Amino acid sequence: ATPALSHIGLAGLAVMGQNLALNIAEKGFPISVYNRTASKTDETLQRAHNEGALPLTGHYTPQDFVLSIQRPRSIIILVKAGSPVDQTISALSSFMEPGDSIIDGGNEWYLNTERRIDHVSSQGLLYLGMGVSGGEEGARFGPSLMPGGSYQAYTNVQNILQKVAAQVDDGPCVTYIGEGGSGNFVKMVHNGIEYGDMQLISEAYDVLKNIGGLSNRELAEIFDEWNRGELESFLVEITADIFRVKDEYGEGELVDKVLDKTGMKGTGKWTVQQAAELSIAAPTITASLDGRFLSALKEERESAAEALRNAGLNEDEELGAVKKGIDKKRLIDDVRQALYASKICSYAQGMNLLRAKSVEKSWDLNFGELARIWKGGCIIRAVFLDRIKKAYQRNPNLASLVVDLEFAKEMVQRQAAWRRVVGLAVSAGISTPGMCASLSYFDTYRRARLPANLVQAQRDLFGAHTYERIDRPGSFHTEWTKLA
Ligand code: NAP
Repeated sequence: ATPALSHIGLAGLAVMGQNLALNIAEKGFPISVYNRTASKTDETLQRAHNEGALPLTGHYTPQDFVLSIQRPRSIIILVKAGSPVDQTISALSSFMEPGDSIIDGGNEWYLNTERRIDHVSSQGLLYLGMGVSGGEEGARFGPSLMPGGSYQAYTNVQNILQKVAAQVDDGPCVTYIGEGGSGNFVKMVHNGIEYGDMQLISEAYDVLKNIGGLSNRELAEIFDEWNRGELESFLVEITADIFRVKDEYGEGELVDKVLDKTGMKGTGKWTVQQAAELSIAAPTITASLDGRFLSALKEERESAAEALRNAGLNEDEELGAVKKGIDKKRLIDDVRQALYASKICSYAQGMNLLRAKSVEKSWDLNFGELARIWKGGCIIRAVFLDRIKKAYQRNPNLASLVVDLEFAKEMVQRQAAWRRVVGLAVSAGISTPGMCASLSYFDTYRRARLPANLVQAQRDLFGAHTYERIDRPGSFHTEWTKLA
C-alpha cells in the first residue's frame, strides 16, 4: 500500500528546523523532513523515535520529499538566510504544483521575501516569510511565529501554526502579520528590540556591580526578585540563572570569565538602518548596536584604558567618590525603575519604526496583536507586553507608547529614580548608553520647545534653507550676517 501522505513538510534540519519539525510532529501532524546533508535527516528521525515515536518521515531527495506531502502542499524552509534559501526553493519547486506554498522561517531580509513572492508566483506557488523566535527551546516547545505574505498560504497552515506556537492566556503566539515581507520585517524589529533589552539589562548589571558593589549571588537574587514584578520576562529570568553558574575551570562564577566581546548576526544592524531610512529616531536600539561595535574592540579598549590612565584619568577616584555615598537598597530600587522606564522608550521606538514601515508599505500592521504574539515563545517575552497590547487596543493610532495614559503615568513616577541612576553612572564614569539614550529620547520627545530653532537659523544663515516662524505663517529667509 502507498504510505499516507504527510500534512506538511520541513526542509533544513539544523537547530531550528529539527526542533520545529519535532514540535509539529508532537502536536499530531504527520510531517515529512528533508535536509541537503542526509546525516541531519537521520539525526532527526532518531530524535523523533527517542522523543516518543512522533509521526515524522525522513526523505533523501527533493522529489521524494515533495511527493510525500498532501496537496495543496505547505513546505517550511529553515536554512541559512540568503542564497541557501534560493537554492532550496529551486531544488524543491520543480516538483511542486500550483497552489502549493513555501514558508521561509529564517531570519531573512524582507526584500528577499518580496522578490521570492513574485518569483514563485509565476509558477502558481504561494509564499510566506515567517519570523520564528524563541531559539532552540522555542522551536521545540512553542515559538512566537510571525508569518507574512500570502494570506491563502497562511490559512492553509493556520491550524498547525496555532497548535505549534507558544500558548498564552489570550491565545497562540501567532497571527497573520500582513502582506509581502511584513513577517520578516516584524521579526527583524523584534530582534532590534531584543538588542535594546539585553543592552539595558547589561547596564543595570554594570551599575549594580560596579557602583553598588553587588556580588554575583546578590545579583542573582535581585534579578529573581525583579522577575516577580513589573520586569518579569525571559531575559531577566535567564540573567538570574547566569549569575549562579560556577566556573568549571576555576574559582567563582562563569560570567566573570566570559570575554566582554559581543557577537551579532545582522538583524540589529538592519533595524537601525531601516530606522534611519524611515527617519524614525531609535536611539536606544542604536545605542545597543553601538555597544556591540565598541565591545568588539577589546584590544583597542584595553589600550585606550592605558592611554587615558597615563594621561591622568583615575577611574578609581571617580568611582570611589560616587560609591562612598551609596545607599545600596535605594540604588537597587532606582535601577529597577530606570530599567523599566528605559525599556518603555525602547519599545516605543521599535513600534514607531513598525508603524512607519506599515504606512509606507500599506501593511496595516496591528500593533496590539504584535505585542500579544510576543507575550510567549520569543526572546523578548515579558509580562509588560500585555500592557503594550492594551495600550494599542485603547488607541490603535497611539502616537507613542510614552503618551499612553498608563505608560505616561509610569514614566512620570519613575523619572526621578531614572535620572538618579543615569546621573550617578555619568559621575562614576560607568557608561550607560542605552539608559541615557532612552532618557534623552523621553526628554526630547516630551519637550514642546527644543533648540531646533537655532539649528534652523544656522541652516538659513549659511544655506538660505529658510525657516518658519512661531507667530505667523509662511517661509522666511533672513540675511543674518548683515543684521548681526
Ligand atoms: P543555520 O545554521 O542558519 O543553517 C544551517 C542549515 O542550512 C542546514 O540545514 C544546512 O544544510 C542548510 N544550508 C546551508 N546552506 C545551504 C544550501 N546552499 N542549500 C541547502 N541548504 C543549505 O540553521 P539554524 O540556526 O537552524 O537557523 C535557520 C534559520 O533560522 C536562519 O535563517 C536563522 O537566522 C533563523 N533563526 C535561528 C535561530 C537560532 O536560535 N538558531 C533563531 C531564530 C531564527 P546542510 O546540513 O546540508 O549544511
